[in-house]
Amino acid sequence: KLANETAKADLGRASWKLFHTIMSRFPDQPSPDERTALKSYIHLFVRLYPCGECAEHFRVIVEKFPPQTSSRSAAATWACHVHNEVNLSLGKAVFDCSKIGDFYDCGCAEDGVEGKAVG
Ligand code: FAD
Repeated sequence: KLANETAKADLGRASWKLFHTIMSRFPDQPSPDERTALKSYIHLFVRLYPCGECAEHFRVIVEKFPPQTSSRSAAATWACHVHNEVNLSLGKAVFDCSKIGDFYDCGCAEDGVEGKAVG
């Protein structure tokens, strides 16, 4: 169990940042393998999240709202929605998911490693 609320909040901010940035880089037209990878990542994120009570709350949310992996925008919108469910349970303001577009910037160019179009 984490020692204090500050550590828990710091871990949360760092985790959400990575979580949403991964969604923001997910392919627009993912292959079946890429969709499986994202589903696995989400499943393991839920299972291994270091704050046990948080992980348990989030597991219930993800069970209710199953991960969406059909496209980048579906994944990003889903992640925004489940984060909002956490926000609501903690009494925080809800984020406008229509503004998720360029909010999470990895600071990396859209890579051409797999010959993908810029998108
Ligand atoms: P955060 O919620 O950490 O958000 C960081 C930033 O992301 C915000 O400043 C905003 O710019 C942006 N943002 C906000 N909402 C959204 C959204 N819907 N979509 C995209 N971007 C958004 N804490 C607890 O005390 N109890 C818990 O049970 C708990 N469960 C958690 C479960 C998970 C899986 C995670 C990752 C964190 C959990 N936390 C929990 C931590 C909590 O969610 C916050 O991270 C922490 O309280 C810090 O909050 P914050 O106000 O700085 O903003």
